[in-house]
Amino acid sequence: MTRLEPQFLGAVFDGVDAGLIVLDPAGRVLGWNAWMAVGSGVSADAAFGHRLDEIFPTLLGTRLIAAITEAVTGGVSSLLTHSLHSGLLPLKTRAGQDLIQNVTVRPIGAEPALCLIQITDVTVATERDSILRKRQNARYDAVVESAPNAILTLDASGMVQTANPAVAREFGYAAKELLGQPIDVLFDGQPAWAEAWTTLLSGAPLARPVELIARRKDGSSSFLEVSAARWRSDTRTFVTAILRDVNERRAAEEALRRLNQTLERRVAERTADRDRMWRLSTDVMLVARLDGTIQSTNPAWKHILGWDEATLIHAPLAAFVMLEDRPRLQAALHDMARSRTPRLFELRLRKHDGGNRHIAWSAVADGDLLQAVGRDVTAEREAQAALLTAEEALRQSQKMEALGQLTGGIAHDFNNLLTGIIGAMDIVKRRITAGRYEDVERFMDAASASAHRAAALTHRLLAFARRQPLDPQSVDINHLIGGIEELLLRSVGEQVVVEFRLPPGLWPAMTDANQLENALLNLAINGRDAMPHGGRLTIATENLVLEEADHGSATAIAAGEYTLISVSDTGVGMTRETLAKVFDPFFTTKPIGQGTGLGLSMIYGFVMQSNGHVRIESTVGQGTTVRLYLPRHHGASVQRPPQIVAKPIPKGSGETVLVVEDDPSVRLLVSEVLRELGYTSLEAADGQAALPVLTSNARLDLMVTDVGLPGLNGRQLAEIARQHRPKLKILFVTGYAEHALERGTFLGEGMEMVTKPFALDALASKIRDMIAAAP
Ligand code: ADP
Ligand code: MG
Repeated sequence: MTRLEPQFLGAVFDGVDAGLIVLDPAGRVLGWNAWMAVGSGVSADAAFGHRLDEIFPTLLGTRLIAAITEAVTGGVSSLLTHSLHSGLLPLKTRAGQDLIQNVTVRPIGAEPALCLIQITDVTVATERDSILRKRQNARYDAVVESAPNAILTLDASGMVQTANPAVAREFGYAAKELLGQPIDVLFDGQPAWAEAWTTLLSGAPLARPVELIARRKDGSSSFLEVSAARWRSDTRTFVTAILRDVNERRAAEEALRRLNQTLERRVAERTADRDRMWRLSTDVMLVARLDGTIQSTNPAWKHILGWDEATLIHAPLAAFVMLEDRPRLQAALHDMARSRTPRLFELRLRKHDGGNRHIAWSAVADGDLLQAVGRDVTAEREAQAALLTAEEALRQSQKMEALGQLTGGIAHDFNNLLTGIIGAMDIVKRRITAGRYEDVERFMDAASASAHRAAALTHRLLAFARRQPLDPQSVDINHLIGGIEELLLRSVGEQVVVEFRLPPGLWPAMTDANQLENALLNLAINGRDAMPHGGRLTIATENLVLEEADHGSATAIAAGEYTLISVSDTGVGMTRETLAKVFDPFFTTKPIGQGTGLGLSMIYGFVMQSNGHVRIESTVGQGTTVRLYLPRHHGASVQRPPQIVAKPIPKGSGETVLVVEDDPSVRLLVSEVLRELGYTSLEAADGQAALPVLTSNARLDLMVTDVGLPGLNGRQLAEIARQHRPKLKILFVTGYAEHALERGTFLGEGMEMVTKPFALDALASKIRDMIAAAP
């Protein structure tokens, strides 16, 4: 294959579909292809040797000639486009139109260079652009045509030039009817429009859309918001205006306005209601500052308290509050200032004419004011107070009645007993004076029997008062019942069958054995009395665990472990009324002489003092069950030594005993007993008097002391005595304990206790035992 022969280059030069011109360094035409000849109508021969501005004189001084010079002399290439340099070379298209062209100018070869000019025909492409642009205008028209808003174009005199279909819909005019008409047909010379028009023609934009009312063809009005702009075409000025329909918005605004008006009316009505309430209310109402300064009050203040509004306003609320209640007011005000929650409180307010009323307030702080409503609750408070007083009076009278019953009962019983004693002693005295001794012993026995009954009575009273000296120990109940079985059987008689249910494994109970025996005997006798024609008495024991407190009756039974003793009979039972009173002292349904009414009251006192409980169940005609709940004792039970019935009175051998007793007759008796026993006795009326003996070196084998002494009591005296004589044996004598005495908390090693009244035999044997025991 060989390269293109140079002789063919001329044919290529002429065959190119673009204009090609070659110039020499002086700008004279060297080459001019066939395309140039056709486009310019100048043949290659005619062009040869001439400069371009000679061929086309219109090119003289143009950018193209300058570009040629730059290319030839400076080696610079240039592109001259039709859009920047229209009509570069006067060429025509084949169709005879002006040819739109881009021209490139560039140097060829070394200096001095030739210049190649290439002309490209862009007529077709440019036309395509303009067609596109026209199409865009059409799209713009379509937008205007279909716009929902009326769009009008006016000329400078305000005549309608164009109108879109929305105009017809909006105003009822056909678009054609408006063309050439002044815009005043619609706007009727409204000042807002006149002003906007002046602004528009001056060339300034409208600051904001103008609100106008247009008149429709049918005479009705339409609210519009008009935006508009001025524009120019050639020398003419136009204004295009967009008219937006704001009727709906206007309607909504109107509705809102009307709503607001009715709202105001409704609020006004509500306020009037409230005002009526304020005026007519029977509650006192108040608006005050948070410091309590009154701002306004309602007329109820006048009706209820007698105060005028004029007096109240600007005065401190405290001035109308009772002195004692003012701190409560201050506290409430303080509270409300801190938190906005409503408060309820009661204050007594002073009345204008003296006196006061109880007002129950409900108040709330709102901003820096507080609003309060107060109800007059004086009547309720007075009723409450009256009720309280009545209750108190009732309680008092009940107490007095019970007390009267008690003292009356005691006095009656004691009189009987004293009559027996005094009478017997009178007779004895007379017999002795008369020297008749045969019957003396009988009357002495009668007197001492009465005295013993009196002692038993005081013991029962003390039991009821829970002031008896108790000696609680761990007791084996089954064993205890076994010990008095014989006595019980004899007490109830042969008509009554006695059944014992004493299961093994019973817990020991913490109680006073003597008192418990006494109680069981009492219960058995009550059972016997309830079964005059015979029946069955059941004495049963069991272990009981109360998981929860039992609130079955007036006194609750605490949860815990109990040893339970129940005594049931099949007797007459009790009515509800009787049952309610059985624990009352001296309450008895039995004939005089048979019942004391102290049995159950004593049992109640004793069991309660032992931290236990008593419950009674009874059905008329069926029988009664009494249950004693005694607290369980953890640990081994103590066996009681069998009671010694008869024991020869022991004799002493010169031992010394100190007797401290404030009652001279008791002191005399005790000393007498001691002397009879063969002891030396020292006497002291109180603790103070006993001290010298205790601190001396004199022999002392035992101190017998009363517990309730004036000054130093028996316990304190015992402590002092033990400091000097640590091994001194002490026997306490007591009849009554302020706080019931309990052996465990009181008696130490080498100490014993006897209770008054005591049998001289019992005292003597106790003293003997103590002295005989190893120190
Ligand atoms: P007293 O036995 O001296 O009357 P109590 O205090 O022991 O006094 O009893 C008071 C009253 O309770 C008795 O008079 C009797 O009415 C009633 N009462 C007591 N125990 C029974 C019982 N087991 N059955 C029926 N009534 C009883
Ligand atoms: Mg009884």
